[in-house]
Amino acid sequence: MCGIVAYVGHQQAYPILIKGLRRLEYRGYDSAGVALLGSDGINLYKTSGKVDELDNHVKDKDISGTTGIAHTRWATHGEPNTINAHPHFSESGNLALIHNGIIENYLSLKAELENRGYKFRSQTDTEVLMYLIEDIFKSNGLSLFEAVQMALSQVVGAYAIVVISKDHPDELIAARKSSPLVVGLGKDEMFVASDATPLVEYTSEVVYLNDEEVALIRRGEKLLIRSIDNTVKSPYVHTLEMSLSALEKGGY
Ligand code: GLU
Repeated sequence: MCGIVAYVGHQQAYPILIKGLRRLEYRGYDSAGVALLGSDGINLYKTSGKVDELDNHVKDKDISGTTGIAHTRWATHGEPNTINAHPHFSESGNLALIHNGIIENYLSLKAELENRGYKFRSQTDTEVLMYLIEDIFKSNGLSLFEAVQMALSQVVGAYAIVVISKDHPDELIAARKSSPLVVGLGKDEMFVASDATPLVEYTSEVVYLNDEEVALIRRGEKLLIRSIDNTVKSPYVHTLEMSLSALEKGGY
């Protein structure tokens, strides 16, 4: 089980993301990474090993930005090393993706993309999904949200994902199937995580995504959810009863 944390809002994202990854460390992982939407595009940093190592690695780097995604990986496809760690860039570097789960048909998707000239940098199934999303986005004149829906309709397997785009700095796109994902609703800020533990200190209003749902999470706008076949879903808002002090005493 890996950990996913994402943020879009008015605060600096990095401190929220790194603290969120620490709260998810109990799930186990072998590498960690973060991608932040800075003023000149996406800055992406990753390391094998612990979240502390990632935090040390970025000490002299540009970690500014109010939108970002962060991940702790439990390797299933490819060694636990820095290249295979998430986030993964799209081929152009305009998009970045974090993923929890397994894309079972990644080999056939990868072969198709390689035939079209794509060259992969990592051994992961996740990078195949990232390239597929961008390929659909570029070739079909769709919005990124629609491209994510279409890519996921071709995927066999399990996923919880979050995508960011250089061209949409106040936006996260999240989706899940057979792997949990929760959206936290704040005031002029939104959060995404694998479970609610990174969110409790910021909000008690959360929406658990259901299987095959894709969420458009935009700063200052209402959460919009559609199924991968484009049925509109009404978000069901839960109120968390977990408190931060109970969480901190809970031995995570
Ligand atoms: N299958 C992906 C990988 O190996 C994600 C693993 C995870 O859930 O951390 O990179």
